[in-house]
Amino acid sequence: GAFYRKLPKVELHAHLNGSVSVQTMEKLISRKPHLNIKHSMTAIGKGQRRTLDECFQVFKVIHQLVDTEEDILTVATDVIREFAADGVKYLELRSTPREEKNTGLTKKSYVETVIKAIQQCKNEGLDIDVRFLLAIDRRNGTEVAMETVELAEEFMLSSDGLVVGLDLSGDPTVGHGKDLLPVLQRAKNCGLKLSLHLSEVPSQLEESDLLLNLPPDRIGHGTFLHPEVGGSQSLVDKVLKNNIPLELCLTSNVKGKTVPSYSKHHFKYWYQLGHPSVICTDDKGVFCTDLSQEYQLAATTFSLSREAVWQLSQQAIDCIFGPEMPLVLQ
Ligand code: 5GP
Repeated sequence: GAFYRKLPKVELHAHLNGSVSVQTMEKLISRKPHLNIKHSMTAIGKGQRRTLDECFQVFKVIHQLVDTEEDILTVATDVIREFAADGVKYLELRSTPREEKNTGLTKKSYVETVIKAIQQCKNEGLDIDVRFLLAIDRRNGTEVAMETVELAEEFMLSSDGLVVGLDLSGDPTVGHGKDLLPVLQRAKNCGLKLSLHLSEVPSQLEESDLLLNLPPDRIGHGTFLHPEVGGSQSLVDKVLKNNIPLELCLTSNVKGKTVPSYSKHHFKYWYQLGHPSVICTDDKGVFCTDLSQEYQLAATTFSLSREAVWQLSQQAIDCIFGPEMPLVLQ
């Protein structure tokens, strides 16, 4: 495992509240004992699998534990330190700005607090470069999505380049991408980068086709895009023509039961095409993993040489949303 931990890595698909470690979870649980939340309710352990729907229930529990500025600061600084300790040199975190009436948390203070955490970690001298994507939860509809875009536009200008784009996530069985198209188009026109969860479940062919016309700058999962699993060649062609990188999360997809086993993960399909495929964790806390482990799993499952693993991590640099910079992993 030492090779993978030492390997300098880029993490591009990490949901903040899904990335909370056991240690941090214990701090949060002790702050709110009255909620009576057990750690077993916030993570899916080794060998366990849940439906995607059950995974979304886990996020509801975590959100109860993370509902003040203090909690968000704790979670964000801990998550950044943990990625740094795992050898991640460049990290894009994504999170859904949330308002909590009970604690006075607003969407704006939510974003400000994540930015504060990023700046604190920088001041600590951690060897990691962090950027932030604001997430649109598709369950919340068009109006909220528009508010999120406006917030992202505001912070893109005021955060010293830390807010770089938007993510579209949340339960893929709820809502339709066509309602979000104008909002996403606007974001793109403003210079915000777009990473969209696409075809995470099989029923999204039409939606993926529409959203690929934007086109997005990166795709999250894209599990059911290719014809072998009920997708289509025309979807694949759109991805290839626009050279849109895929963010691939092996353990998340296996534990969330959208992929039957590691060896059947669609990483194989896209990697064999030579298409930019970036290994990511998705939710390192919920799925009990880290980026080193995901690289190791990809290597052992698909028989990648150390040279190939090295190239895989290097190629991820071309897919980052941060400004062009002489980011050389060494
Ligand atoms: P947060 O945005 O609160 O920091 O992170 C948790 C949220 O990320 C979840 O409520 C959900 O909207 C989104 N999320 C995390 N993992 C996944 C995933 O595997 N698929 C989708 N579609 N959304 C996810």
